Amino acid sequence: MDRHVYLDHAATTFVKKEVLDEMLPYFAEKYGNASSLHRDGREARAAIDRARSRTAGAIGARDEEIIFTSGGTESDNLAIKGVAEAYEQKGRHIITTKIEHDAVLNTCEYLEKKGFEVTYLPVDEYGLVSPETLEKAIRSDTILISVMFANNEIGTLEPIDKIGEIARAKNIIFHTDAVQAVGSVPIDVEKMKIDMLSLSAHKIYGPKGTGALYVKKGIKLSPQSHGGAHESKRRAGTENVPGIVGLGKAIELAGANIGGYAERLRAMREKLIRGIQENVSDVRLNGHPEKRLPGNANFSFEFIEGEALLLLLDMAGISSSTGSACTSGSFKPSHVLSAIGLPAEIAQGSVRFTFGDANKEGDADYCIEQIIKIVQRLRAMSPLFAQEKGMRKNV
Ligand SMILES: *Cc1c(COP(=O)(O)O)cnc(C)c1O
Repeated sequence: MDRHVYLDHAATTFVKKEVLDEMLPYFAEKYGNASSLHRDGREARAAIDRARSRTAGAIGARDEEIIFTSGGTESDNLAIKGVAEAYEQKGRHIITTKIEHDAVLNTCEYLEKKGFEVTYLPVDEYGLVSPETLEKAIRSDTILISVMFANNEIGTLEPIDKIGEIARAKNIIFHTDAVQAVGSVPIDVEKMKIDMLSLSAHKIYGPKGTGALYVKKGIKLSPQSHGGAHESKRRAGTENVPGIVGLGKAIELAGANIGGYAERLRAMREKLIRGIQENVSDVRLNGHPEKRLPGNANFSFEFIEGEALLLLLDMAGISSSTGSACTSGSFKPSHVLSAIGLPAEIAQGSVRFTFGDANKEGDADYCIEQIIKIVQRLRAMSPLFAQEKGMRKNV
């Protein structure tokens, strides 16, 4: 009865054994500082170089275009602030979207306080950015466009190649937060005309606290930490060698089987969607029906609080996630669900399930079975549901 089904791969993933095995020697035996000139230093340097090649190779970049960071958040900060500072003579206007991760949104808000102007593009009911709307938002002083590759809450895949096309034609730097897309969707920065790309190891079966930023050759970037000459003077600080080694291995493994991985996840995810839609009333699937990450399903269950569902699912051994946080009794719906036009009371009933390699055959079935039971139970207690369905006999 202590079954555990992890359906929160968009939050983080376990570290694969092959990844951990490659990392371990760099903690205690091969502990050199990659800046040192002796054999210990050279050993660490060689490990970082190998990881850099693997990371670059996975996205079609060149080795020298990869900067290792402490994760997706730092990569987003470095990309946006780094370009803003380096290009402010040219202009102070940035374009992004309303559905970005907080690492992008809060960085943009910070820059607004520093005198930059930011346009937050709307999205349609599926969470898609319109390339036409984006093109119209471009001004003569626009220096950066930042649009995420795939949304972390609803899984929507943005029209990245079209956006890359527009940005390149207008000679504006294009950054994409691809933290959720790497490993699930093939990415080629050359073909997609991406100038900067953020990625993170712990979303692809690597360690937490390590990520990378791809910066196309020729783009200026103001460093956001100052110190030694690490990472071609763009990110000071002694390199996290075990973490970087782990990222290199994780991204290599991911790249070797994107198709098979996506297929496996899609099959489990589709089963869950079908099971829920066929057995639960008053439920909607958020995000685009096809243009979405293979492992992502995000539902809004009407007449239910997402947090209550999450907690009861947790008791049944299922780990899921909700975008809406209940703070002192007042609900603040997720900015993503608000942006796709969900009314607050429906957004409140939203839960995200994200499949990955921790899942096996039968997990979707177990999840369907538990959701049906719990939703029934919660709705039986909901006065709103009773009223709506005309089941309240004494009224
Ligand atoms: C997880 C995530 C991040 C943050 O990455 P960290 O490595 O956890 O800092 C940024 N963007 C998206 C879309 C994410 O899903």
